[in-house]
Amino acid sequence: MSKPRIHILALGGTIATRPDATGAMQMGLGADDLVGAVPLLATIADIEAETVSRVGSHSLGFDQLHALAAKIRSLKADGVVVTQGTDTLEETSFVLDLLLDLDIPVVITAAMRNPALTSADGPGNLLAAVRVAADPWVREHARALGVIVTMLDEVYAAADVLKVHPTRLNAFASTQTGPLAALVEDRIVPLALPVRDAMNAVHRRLDALTGDGAAPVALFWMSIDEPGRLIEALLAAPDRLGYRGAVIGAMGGGHTPERATDILIKLAAAVPTVVSPRAGGGPLLEKTYGGPSSEIALRGAGLIWGGRLHPLKARALLETCLRFGLDRKAIAELFAGWN
Ligand code: GLU
Repeated sequence: MSKPRIHILALGGTIATRPDATGAMQMGLGADDLVGAVPLLATIADIEAETVSRVGSHSLGFDQLHALAAKIRSLKADGVVVTQGTDTLEETSFVLDLLLDLDIPVVITAAMRNPALTSADGPGNLLAAVRVAADPWVREHARALGVIVTMLDEVYAAADVLKVHPTRLNAFASTQTGPLAALVEDRIVPLALPVRDAMNAVHRRLDALTGDGAAPVALFWMSIDEPGRLIEALLAAPDRLGYRGAVIGAMGGGHTPERATDILIKLAAAVPTVVSPRAGGGPLLEKTYGGPSSEIALRGAGLIWGGRLHPLKARALLETCLRFGLDRKAIAELFAGWN
């Protein structure tokens, strides 16, 4: 039986670092280096390797992700593996999931320990990602799985995966739903398929539309006694600052400090403003608490309810909606799917 054709796209990140003369790790390795370090790959798949960039994922932008999505769409492959840095993996995987609706697996992986360290995890994660992309169950359910992330022998859905630790090997988790599959020996053990209704609605809405340039979205994290002065500054100089939307990392089930509430309501009147749980996952409340900065008041005042989406993922969805020219009503409809 012929092996699946897996295309590896390398963006950079710790997995692609090497030490400079001072010992500091610099982005430097390309896709061929990563593949060359894992001879077993050739026994699993016919590998095509391509270096897209050599940057830290903290420096990636939405424009690059749109270009990456277009490249992935154009590939003649049975599966795609993307390697990148871990720092924004929870965002990049979700953006690619918003943009791609393919019937081949798209798997993203990375490394927590750089190649100069004992027990570097890059080669093992790359091997695992290729195994996942080549696996018959994953290939059969590629569209139902959407873009997936493989780290430390687990497979996660892009909408749920979070980076939960800055340095540990087990830095990734899917805190709301758990992993979709596990790797053991040379096998993939299926555990679950993600609920994709909200994502499918995004794909239907964006189909046939084209994005026309960046749509910056501000992220405001609510914390105790927050007076909302940065929001005041944004409203005072909207054209200079250029933000076209905002996400509020709200307390609890969708609450904000009372002293910031009036300005938040003004913000929501000026630009689409999404409330999302700073606790990291939802769903948010809709009808429990009364009072001026409760979920009932904020929803009534026109803030868009982000449901269970982490604020970073809500920001990625709002940027995508605005970039594709959706109006406030269409945006609210898409976010409703995550409530
Ligand atoms: N900050 C770098 C990046 O995101 C390194 C982090 C990593 O790969 O773990 O690319």
